[in-house]
Amino acid sequence: MEYSVLCQTYARIDSTSKRLEKTRFIAELLKQSGESLRLICYLLQGRIHPAWNKEVLGISHKLIIKVLAQVSGSSTQHIERTWEQTGDLGIVAEQHIRSRTQETLFSQTLTVQHVHTQLSRIAQTQGVKSTDIKLKIISELLSNVSGQEAKYLIRTILEQLRIGTADATMRDAIIYAFLAQEAGVDANYTITEREAYTRVTTQVQNAYDRINDFGVLAETARKGLEEIKQIRITLGKPIKIMLGYKGTTPTNALKTLDKPVLFQYKYDGFRVEIHKQDDEITIFTRRLENVTEQFPDVVAYAREAITARNVILDAEAIGLDKHTGAYKPFQHISQRIRRKHSIEEVAKELPVEVRVFDILYKDDEEVLEHSLEHRQHILEQTIHNHKQFLLAHTIITGDEKEAEEFYTQALREGVEGVFAKKITSTYQPGTRVGTWIKLKDTHEPIDVTIVGAEWGEGKRSGWLTSFTLAIQDEEGNLCTIGKVGTGLKEKEEEGFSFPEITRLLEPLIREKKGKEVVIEPGVQVEVTYEELQKSSAYDSGYALRFPRILRNRTEEKNVEDITNIHYIEQIYREQE
Ligand code: AMP
Repeated sequence: MEYSVLCQTYARIDSTSKRLEKTRFIAELLKQSGESLRLICYLLQGRIHPAWNKEVLGISHKLIIKVLAQVSGSSTQHIERTWEQTGDLGIVAEQHIRSRTQETLFSQTLTVQHVHTQLSRIAQTQGVKSTDIKLKIISELLSNVSGQEAKYLIRTILEQLRIGTADATMRDAIIYAFLAQEAGVDANYTITEREAYTRVTTQVQNAYDRINDFGVLAETARKGLEEIKQIRITLGKPIKIMLGYKGTTPTNALKTLDKPVLFQYKYDGFRVEIHKQDDEITIFTRRLENVTEQFPDVVAYAREAITARNVILDAEAIGLDKHTGAYKPFQHISQRIRRKHSIEEVAKELPVEVRVFDILYKDDEEVLEHSLEHRQHILEQTIHNHKQFLLAHTIITGDEKEAEEFYTQALREGVEGVFAKKITSTYQPGTRVGTWIKLKDTHEPIDVTIVGAEWGEGKRSGWLTSFTLAIQDEEGNLCTIGKVGTGLKEKEEEGFSFPEITRLLEPLIREKKGKEVVIEPGVQVEVTYEELQKSSAYDSGYALRFPRILRNRTEEKNVEDITNIHYIEQIYREQE
């Protein structure tokens, strides 16, 4: 398929905010994608790979400005000025290519396949000369595109396509394109049989949750629904994890979940999904990033502790004090996740303990559809007793007193709280479910993304010091909820600090207005606050009173994972 056809669809999707319309435009394109179907699915979401593959293009705005200056003959200052005015280098590229094409004719028609190959080359190019090579690939691509293509090409290269092709839209488009009949959808894309539609959507979603790959999903759907039902988990490829909701007390959890209930320590570490395939161990974060190299200690423990030939485990890795062995809060070990050098030394300095709490796959079979009680039983038979690789501390009880005591004991032992889990529940990848209830003692913090900031003054000049915070509305759009300037340390050695957050935010600065800057969302933080107030000062309709930054959550959470308005409304109601 020609790249221009894909770009015309981008423009159509971009032109509407209605999800149904976007879905139709995508479905139409998928139907005519032919051999390029898989790549088109990735490119529609502004990626070159499926979601489970975290290889990035890693191209900076600076490099794009340089390329644009080269191909258009303008100065970098001029390009930067237009960027400031439009806030989008894609549009800048479009304008420059438009004025250029008056003189030059295209020399080559780009295909989707060719663009994908070149983008993959960019992602894989490393080493001393890599910047020059990347620059050459991009300028070559730009010399063969129209204005519209340049706009979306540059946005894709910067990994900022942002046309609203969320996962649910992609899933529905695949159904509309290839499974319309089975799902009771007519030629005008109207749902005529609601029950069939819900059933097929669940089947397709279940299949997607097992592979995290819209390219493969679409190719399979094109073969038929029977093939979709055959999709299974693949060892070595990450699966999205399951999450719970916040609850109030163990006694209430017993009422909600049907007695008896499984209570389990909630450890304050970070989520690890551990795959074992014969002797090979792979570790993924909850964002599906492969962190096996960063955790050689966990790999070794897993080899020693797991008795099964192959397995997928859901677990938490918790930091330990290297002298006392006491649990340390998440921040203590967070630096291990991105570590690229001196890994063995850091592993010794910042040791971890692994607590396994679920099992999804064992000895060539999926077990995620078994009940939690059964899975726990399988888990007990899968793990040897090991000093630093253990089962999460668990009880099953229907007794209020016993549940409350377990909770108090957890807090006394320094863990965050407990999870209450329904013993008949299955494992549902990628979903926040009502069958897992989090019980934490503290006032629940929220996760927000930073969308604006202000440069400090006096001894804080050179640092960004005040931050505008945003949550998500029903549609997943960002809406502001307050400003925060407290909670950060001045010195880096003391924890999450002004210099560190400034370093993270600076490359994301989009616009400057005096001391204020607009930030491209990408840095997520956890904040606590004294109270929620209704307020017209922020888009969400709420304001945080006395907010305070607790920690950096960027490693753990994407922009899509931040708190949403429903949750804020719920907290507000509880507070009232
Ligand atoms: P939160 O980040 O506060 O929404 O809490 C959910 C996180 O708690 C999960 O993503 C896990 O990383 C962590 N966690 C700790 N212990 C458990 C457990 N026993 N079961 C499930 N999640 C746990």
